[in-house]
Amino acid sequence: MLQKKLNDETGSLIALLKKYNQAYRRGKPLVSDNEYDNLLAKLKKLDPENKFLHQVEPEKFEQKKQVKHPSPMLSTEKAYTLDQLARFVVRVTKEAGEIGIQNLEYKVTPKLDGLAGRDDGVIFASRGNGEVGFEISSAFAKGVIPIGGRGLGPGEVVIQKSYFKEHLAVDFEHPRNMVVGIISSDKLNALALKALQAKAVHFVPYKELHCWTGSGEHLLQNIKTITTNLFSKTDYPVDGVVAEIIDEAVKKYMGATAHHYRWQIAVKSKGETAITRVEKVIWQVGRTGILTPVLEVVPVLLSGANIRRVTAHNAGLIKKKKIGVGAEIEIIRSGEVIPKLERVIKTVEDPVLPETCPACDSSLNWENDFLKCPNHECFAQIEQRLSHFFKILGNIDWFGIKTVKKLVASGYNSLKKIYSLKENDFVNLGFGPVQSKNLAQALSTSKTAIVEDWRFLAAFGIPDLGKGDSRKLLSHYKLEKITQITAKQINKIYGFGNITSHSIAAGLQQEKSIINHMLAMNFNLERTVLQSELNNLDNNLAGKRIVLTGKMEQGSRAAMKSDARKLGLLVQNTVNSKTDFLVTGDKAGTTKLSKAEKLGIQIISEARYMELTKNVGADKDP
Ligand SMILES: [Zn+2]
Repeated sequence: MLQKKLNDETGSLIALLKKYNQAYRRGKPLVSDNEYDNLLAKLKKLDPENKFLHQVEPEKFEQKKQVKHPSPMLSTEKAYTLDQLARFVVRVTKEAGEIGIQNLEYKVTPKLDGLAGRDDGVIFASRGNGEVGFEISSAFAKGVIPIGGRGLGPGEVVIQKSYFKEHLAVDFEHPRNMVVGIISSDKLNALALKALQAKAVHFVPYKELHCWTGSGEHLLQNIKTITTNLFSKTDYPVDGVVAEIIDEAVKKYMGATAHHYRWQIAVKSKGETAITRVEKVIWQVGRTGILTPVLEVVPVLLSGANIRRVTAHNAGLIKKKKIGVGAEIEIIRSGEVIPKLERVIKTVEDPVLPETCPACDSSLNWENDFLKCPNHECFAQIEQRLSHFFKILGNIDWFGIKTVKKLVASGYNSLKKIYSLKENDFVNLGFGPVQSKNLAQALSTSKTAIVEDWRFLAAFGIPDLGKGDSRKLLSHYKLEKITQITAKQINKIYGFGNITSHSIAAGLQQEKSIINHMLAMNFNLERTVLQSELNNLDNNLAGKRIVLTGKMEQGSRAAMKSDARKLGLLVQNTVNSKTDFLVTGDKAGTTKLSKAEKLGIQIISEARYMELTKNVGADKDP
């Protein structure tokens, strides 16, 4: 049932992404890039192996001829951190070493954010799905300028950044949308014609780009400077840099996956910044009462998106850096992350800090750099806490912040009250008939669908008690005992400091009645194994990852899972590349089997598994 729900969810997510892709290709995007990326990330989380994630959707240019590329135009693997880049360098060094090549040289170029294509001198084709693109040779007749001349191979159609900023930023959210419109449509609007006449739309072959070359060591040490320098020389929208190997023999040896070349990586930079002015400061109340300042700014183009809001971390910063209406700030956007305040260029005389909570009007307190609303019953905090519960619990749909706000406004301001609601009650609160049914169903499903006990505990949003620490705590104390433990007891567990221990103990006291109330509702909890039950001395199964599938002779799978955990095995629900064994019972799941086969994972029968684990026990209890 959970699986079916997941399938439904992935299905509708993909349908939505496809719809957005189509609109985007028509040059009329329905959502911002950020929003699109968020959806994509959500899909990745739900189903990391989904093939939608690995296919490049072809732009469907109507009335354009299809062209097969002589060799596929692949996409680029992405790195967002220095660590990921370092791993790439290690991998390249190792593989080059295998064919006796040392002292490798790397090349770094800006990663243009436009429409990819390939020009062989006669035919100009878009990348399409990588294998087959569309002939878009008419682009040059329209006035697209081929930089360096014709026939220079793969590259990108882009619009000059300076031109876009001056003439088009008001009408278009993203320069790439404009470019796609120019290439795909036969009727051009006045703005597009003007841009073409101004010779601002270019096809830039990758080999014509500015580049940096140097060793892997220099690359890792100086990536920031390299990026900044390349960006300053590039008057096109960029969304990072591309680092690659120059040596042809190494490139050939490393080859490619179906998706990307293995000798190349895109480094989504933390480099691009923009300067803007603060128009308004908004204060948002979080679930623990901490106020976060959000700056509304004069819209500014950054890494291709039009930015209107920037978070400014905390109230202390507003005070210290003297930020207020009229302040000039530099903002930064890294990868797919929301833009942040980088530095303040021009301060204001008197930054205005709120004295009372914007939600409940309570007087605010300072806690270090944070302004905090001390009222635990503050409705903004309650909304955030409830929404946090549903988000962290992770097995319940339909309870987003909008729904939660509506419930709180109608007086349903606690989990106890919300969980008492029936379908009819939702109708009476003004929810539509279908939504009411979904909401009631979701509440009941959240109780029956299996959920890890640490997730359940973390969902209460107790300060300093996130998912990792909940898990740690529950490996020492049972959930039923958790509201009785003292700061001293928590402090004794490795990894919990003195201050954290006190704040967790206080938080558990505060939420005691609701935790116990929810526990009494019999959620289908998967228990964390207590350290005291865990006897994983020196057996070679400890730490191995297993997946169980099919009907087991031993009895319930849940009991087998729990036994496996006691032996120190890590039990996974689905097969992935980290799985060590797939244990198969009667009528084993074919998806799991074929995936395990594909990944080369050892498949063992239940009988064999029992034999293996029996030996583990025998070793220990002679
Ligand atoms: Zn408040």
